Amino acid sequence: MNPDRTASEAASSGGRFIDTVHGSASEAPPRFINTGHGPTFQPVDIGHPEYLALIESDSAFWSLVKKDKLGHALTDSSFLDAYRAKAGQFRKEMDGLRFGLTPSAVYFNPTERCNLNCAYCYIPGDMRSKGVHMSPDTLLDALSRLKAHFAATLPEGRKPQIIFHGAEPLMNREAVFQGIDAFKDDFRFGVQTNATLLDEQAVEFLTERNVGVGISLDGVDAAIADSTRKTWSGEGVSHLVRRAMDMLRGYSAFNVICTVTSKNIATLPEVVEYFHKNEVETCLLNIVRCTLPGAREIMPGDQDAGRMFIAALERSHELYRETGRKLVVANFANILLAIMAPTARRLMCDISPCGGGRCFFALAPNGDMFPCSEFIGLPHFKGGNLFTDAIDDVLQSAPFAQVTGRKVEDIEPCNRCAIRHFCGSPCPAEAIEMNGAMNRMGAFCGFYEDQTRYALRLIADGKADDFLWDGWDSEAETVFELKGL
Ligand code: SF4
Ligand code: SF4
Repeated sequence: MNPDRTASEAASSGGRFIDTVHGSASEAPPRFINTGHGPTFQPVDIGHPEYLALIESDSAFWSLVKKDKLGHALTDSSFLDAYRAKAGQFRKEMDGLRFGLTPSAVYFNPTERCNLNCAYCYIPGDMRSKGVHMSPDTLLDALSRLKAHFAATLPEGRKPQIIFHGAEPLMNREAVFQGIDAFKDDFRFGVQTNATLLDEQAVEFLTERNVGVGISLDGVDAAIADSTRKTWSGEGVSHLVRRAMDMLRGYSAFNVICTVTSKNIATLPEVVEYFHKNEVETCLLNIVRCTLPGAREIMPGDQDAGRMFIAALERSHELYRETGRKLVVANFANILLAIMAPTARRLMCDISPCGGGRCFFALAPNGDMFPCSEFIGLPHFKGGNLFTDAIDDVLQSAPFAQVTGRKVEDIEPCNRCAIRHFCGSPCPAEAIEMNGAMNRMGAFCGFYEDQTRYALRLIADGKADDFLWDGWDSEAETVFELKGL
């Protein structure tokens, strides 16, 4: 990215246009910016000494403009010409991304049980402590039904993804491993695990089959890491996660999630250092989802979250410059992609509607289907059951429609926020459980503002590529893949 580009250069190279309202043949072409049929551009302070962002709020078309050239950008006809030239292509692309995708992944919960009682878990405690496993036969039946569904809905040659998720999927290891072997040619598999049950045999099984493995560690210091992730009797497990990290070192389809809470927020740069030192290539610094009350007790403040998240990103960048080895913070990389190349994004929380129910869905051990794992503890969001209902009907059900129909355009104040298509106003589960309705915000607006401004500053300074996977732009046409997750 060239930070010295003019507004018109930006429009023809890096700017984006998204519009959910289709123009008609009789609609007059835009003549001016900010009047009539013209696009509405908002100048946004991104905290950069030289540049501000000029964003068309409805569409997320952006340009970086020198602060003393704002008037020129708004009155320069070449800027509007470039916008006109790109509008149709971007509109089609973004309409497809926001409203045209079909599910291609399943968060598959093979058990209700978990050997841990983490502070922020979205699955009710009773379910995790007393729940049931899916039997091997039932799990194979479920995969068979999913295979048939995806064969009918996805383009030929595109493999759907199954991510075994929790609760703790390895508590039902035998069934999970049988499923992976039986359907290895039909799905790409991943396992999101708390890592406590990952022994050498399990690691060998998963890595030999190229199964994605995600594990969780919330801090470097055991006292911090163990304060949020512990057993039912209160014992910390971070030593077991470190052991798993050692076993998985160098495995390319491996990532670590650190859930950001008030407990670890001050130490995020150290967390990044630790991951980098242990040769982790991809991590996620996921801000805690505040769907259930337990999580709200440890939610960090927005400003602290923004400040320390950016400090951690800066530290990751220093380490990259010092060693030549990247640690990609995937959830932030996704924001950069949302700005620079939306169809290359890999995660679907920061878009509206979010990915829940439309890019993927979650399957409970009894076959109940939910738009996202975040809803598994909320029975009224059950859309149907894999074993008794047609998947297509479940995807159209009222509970799913509540989530797939939640758009930033319907949410105050997101509907007038310039960065709404880089943020997506997550999360619907938080919005309804924490704030009472789908058409309300979730948590952490200020945090999302901070990270988007930081992303635009990096673009202005020509540093964005340093925070992305090598070769990301060779995959710019990819539409939603949970790669490495
Ligand atoms: S925003 Fe919430 S409901 Fe949507 S995909 Fe993300 S976690 Fe799931
Ligand atoms: S949550 Fe905040 S930053 Fe995100 S779209 Fe809404 S107003 Fe904008």
